[in-house]
Parts: sequence; structure tokens; C-alpha cells
Amino acid sequence: MLWENLRKFFLSKILRRKYYRTGKCKACGKCCTHIYVKHYKHVLNDEKEFEKLQFLHKFYTYLKVIGKDEVGLIFECQNLDAETHHCKIHKFRPGICRRYPQEELFSMGGALSDDCGYKMEPIISFGEVLASEKKKLKNLR
Ligand code: SF4
Ligand code: SF4
Repeated sequence: MLWENLRKFFLSKILRRKYYRTGKCKACGKCCTHIYVKHYKHVLNDEKEFEKLQFLHKFYTYLKVIGKDEVGLIFECQNLDAETHHCKIHKFRPGICRRYPQEELFSMGGALSDDCGYKMEPIISFGEVLASEKKKLKNLR
């Protein structure tokens, strides 16, 4: 319990994280077929802007626009093998792929695919948030 509380404190108060990442990758490849790109504070929704960004980071040169929704442009990665659903450059894949999924995904309006092997669980549960808000209200009275 003490260790769990320390872990919770470190992640939420020091690292300012909101989620624990649990589980592991099942190598289904789905996250490589539905990608949003965040640049500074916005999600890309303009193909012209994306064309300019391709000179900035090698990862962008792997991407192909396949659609657009209310979040932004949707890309798929051309390094994904269409038959095996495995990454063709797995050993040399960029850091952004190695770190996936990060909680920034949610701030962009994205989500994990339904059958992704990872789960992102809130560090502070809804019950704890509610209790804390009730306490604050009580102290105001
Ligand atoms: S480089 Fe590989 S792991 Fe990264 S998005 Fe492309 S296919 Fe997926
Ligand atoms: S969607 Fe999840 S399980 Fe599938 S490849 Fe991506 S991280 Fe792995």
C-alpha cells in the first residue's frame, strides 16, 4: 500500500501524469493505420501544413493521408506490412513508436483501439476526485 501510494504520488504530483499504462502490445498494427499528428498545440488538419512538416522529422515521411475527421487528418504508416501487420522497420522504428501509447493521445482527442493490448487507467480514480471536491466544498462553508 505504501509503495502504491508513493508510486501514485510520484506519477501524479511529480510527473503530472493522469494515467497508468498497463498491458502489452499484441502487435496487431492497428495504431499504425489510424494516426493523428500533433504539432505544437494543434492536431494537423491541413495537408499543405503537413507537406512542409515532412522536412522536419523522418517519421512524417512514413505517413500517408487516408482521411480526415473532427479531430484532424488521419494517416497510416507506409512501414506497416499489409499482410503480416508488422512494422517493416521494427528494430529501427522511431522513438515516438517505441513510446506509444502515451497519455498525450487523449489530449489530442484520440483513443486506443478497442482490442489494443494496452490499457490506460486513471491514476486518481473518479471516487477520489469526487471525495476531494466534496472536501474542498466543505472547507469553503
Ligand atoms: S514506423 Fe512501424 S511502428 Fe511506427 S507507425 Fe510505422 S509501422 Fe507503426
Ligand atoms: S493497437 Fe495496441 S496492441 Fe495493436 S499494435 Fe498498437 S499498441 Fe500494439
